Amino acid sequence: MDTSPGHGLERAVAARRDEVAALARDLIRIPTLNPPGRNYLEICEYLGERLAAKGFKVSYVRARGAPADSDAHPRWNMIARHEGTEGGDCVHFNGHHDVVEVGHGWSVDPFGGEIRDGRVWGRGACDMKGGIAAAVLAAETFVATCPAYRGAVEISATADEESGGFGGVAWLAERGWFAPERVQHVIIPEPLNKNRICLGHRGVWWAEIETKGRIAHGSMPFLGDCAVRHMGAVLAEMEATLFPLLAGRQTAMPVVPEGARTATLNINAVHGGEPEQEAGYDGLPAPCVPDRCRITIDRRVLIEEDPEEVKREIRALMERVRARRPGFEYEIRELFEVRPSMTERDAPVVRSVERAISRVLGTAPDFVVSPGTYDQKHIDRIGRLRNCIAYGPGILDLAHQPDEWVGIDDMVEAAQVMALTLQDLLGG
Ligand SMILES: [Zn+2]
Repeated sequence: MDTSPGHGLERAVAARRDEVAALARDLIRIPTLNPPGRNYLEICEYLGERLAAKGFKVSYVRARGAPADSDAHPRWNMIARHEGTEGGDCVHFNGHHDVVEVGHGWSVDPFGGEIRDGRVWGRGACDMKGGIAAAVLAAETFVATCPAYRGAVEISATADEESGGFGGVAWLAERGWFAPERVQHVIIPEPLNKNRICLGHRGVWWAEIETKGRIAHGSMPFLGDCAVRHMGAVLAEMEATLFPLLAGRQTAMPVVPEGARTATLNINAVHGGEPEQEAGYDGLPAPCVPDRCRITIDRRVLIEEDPEEVKREIRALMERVRARRPGFEYEIRELFEVRPSMTERDAPVVRSVERAISRVLGTAPDFVVSPGTYDQKHIDRIGRLRNCIAYGPGILDLAHQPDEWVGIDDMVEAAQVMALTLQDLLGG
């Protein structure tokens, strides 16, 4: 029989299987829909009161004045900290408490938290209330089983990840909560699956491109200048030169799915000419030459790419079109930018979780990178903390879908990995 301390910790987590399921159920039953941002205080207090009863010091932080913060829908965050018996590193688990809209096609109550077939069902089950439940269970079990540890354990439940994280992790990072002198290791229990370590994400650049024209009567288009035709030339240039170039630009980042291992560009929207009429309007459109046309582009950036070069590439494309088209005028408005982020494969938190996965699951982990971003961006850029990963239970494909669920055994095994990681990094 294995009598090593880690084994006792694994058993102690496994003994609380029903409790992790009940916690995930209770969190699902607090409908923290975003937008608009409902019940944030309720979920923060639910977790805060529970952790305070286990000896954690709890802080509640409202992101007052952050985007979408209002008295009707305040952006509340909860941070709980437990100190060991001597100084050392702090390991922080960060989970977003908001969930996306329900949508159609459910066969269970999305906010019922039903427990059936070894799963907990409901909106947010995998993304990411199951992950929060696993982290809470791991932290509680660790501090109770290994009280003589060094350093500190923190758990935060934060707002608005689904809408950019500005009232959540970004807000806290700007106020020093993730400063390297305070927190040394961060694990974000997003639903990447219990055997995968997510090292980071690709970058993003969103911009709006507008072509300009001159309005005239549609029966005499030669008297005007059609902004939609100018935009057509831009799109044709993208098809001819940019898309093939991006498709050939491969990354060494282990992005999943594999299709996202090249640079990508999506055209999110195109608008030109008169606005679409309200439903129910049954008149005809008016004959006008459109004087404005806009597209929104969503460019995903690889770690090997220079984000400034990415922007120059688009400007150079626009200049090529301008050189060929008399009267061509355009404007580029930058909307949003996130730099790519990837934690080193041999960072301490990565090595530690890797060892714990091998021990609990008996197999080596897969290392992955996310095609889209999550709150790691703020911890990296604002908090300047590089020792950060996403690791948690749940199947990513179920996120934002109807009949979302998380497996109870998956939560237990992920919590065992998290508890062993705490012991590996903090002793006790
Ligand atoms: Zn999430």
